[in-house]
Amino acid sequence: MTFTYDSFLDNRDSNPEKQAIIKSWIKFEAEYPSEFACCSYLHEVLLREGLLKCDSCFKSDFNRQRALRTLSCKNCGKKQWLTAKTIFRGAKTVRPWLAALWLMSEGLALSSTGLERLTGIKQSSALNILRKIRLVISESMNTQGERRSSEMFSSIIIKRSRETPQREHPRMEITNTQKKMEEEQSPTRAEPLGAEIITSTPSELTNFLTEKEYLLQKKLGDEPLSFDTLLERTGLSPSQLSASLTILELSSLAVRLSGDRYIRKVDHEKHSKRLCSRNKIDQCILDFIDFVRQSFHGVSRKYLQHYIAAYWCKTDRLRWSLDKLLISCIRSGPVSYKELLNYVSAQDLCFSLSEYHEN
Ligand SMILES: [Zn+2]
Repeated sequence: MTFTYDSFLDNRDSNPEKQAIIKSWIKFEAEYPSEFACCSYLHEVLLREGLLKCDSCFKSDFNRQRALRTLSCKNCGKKQWLTAKTIFRGAKTVRPWLAALWLMSEGLALSSTGLERLTGIKQSSALNILRKIRLVISESMNTQGERRSSEMFSSIIIKRSRETPQREHPRMEITNTQKKMEEEQSPTRAEPLGAEIITSTPSELTNFLTEKEYLLQKKLGDEPLSFDTLLERTGLSPSQLSASLTILELSSLAVRLSGDRYIRKVDHEKHSKRLCSRNKIDQCILDFIDFVRQSFHGVSRKYLQHYIAAYWCKTDRLRWSLDKLLISCIRSGPVSYKELLNYVSAQDLCFSLSEYHEN
């Protein structure tokens, strides 16, 4: 492992999310210090879940060899791989996978660069690992739940993908996917059936301000104020302030300047919005948009559903423990590179309410 804290923390920054990742990583290293320890945990879960059976005699009694991933059936002697029928098939080592699952189970937002720096694997391998895990989580989302149009997320769709038309902004994928779907009239892989589609736009979503956002709006002026100053003046927590600022930006009431400073955009008196409590799913969507901006800056439309899944995992700590994440990954079976490459989020995205937003 080539991990150094310096390489993870660019210019020794004090980003609280990165600090939390390092704290959690130290715990991970103590608990799973080697590939052997990681494989042992995988072995234990496979046995506990009754997912380990001999290919030829179907018994589940094995001897595990020191060669980490090889098992031999105690009954018929047949050898097989511990990772054979799991998402880990073909992986050189299991540890980077477990590291990603561990950090996600702690509610931390991990980027492929972060995983690369922590585990020493290539960034492309780290991206594949994260995409596969996010795919697994997105497949367990309640597809009968609430759905929202891609247009609601246009402010965070800034990354190109294979689906982005040449010389066009990544946002053009929204229009293109819509057109394609109208032409084909057939659901894509990730298209959930039978759910209600809500197509309000971000501006409709922010027609009303909550009390926190209203108070924050009043604190902004023509003089740029730093994030830290606003923290002091509003008494909000950093996450509340960050989410509220995002909403004011989306509502065209605030402008973000360089150096994380903010000013108001319009005269409050003329453009004051009605105060209202926002429904839970809309609040969840706005928090998701803030999460993407803070942790990934932006995403592609192609993989948008994956990021919604990652957000669900981050906020629903009861649903996504390390055990549950690992079991879902094992049960999903191998995922091919082609399957990842061909993945396209549905035009209308599934949104599950997490415990975090239910309460
Ligand atoms: Zn056997």
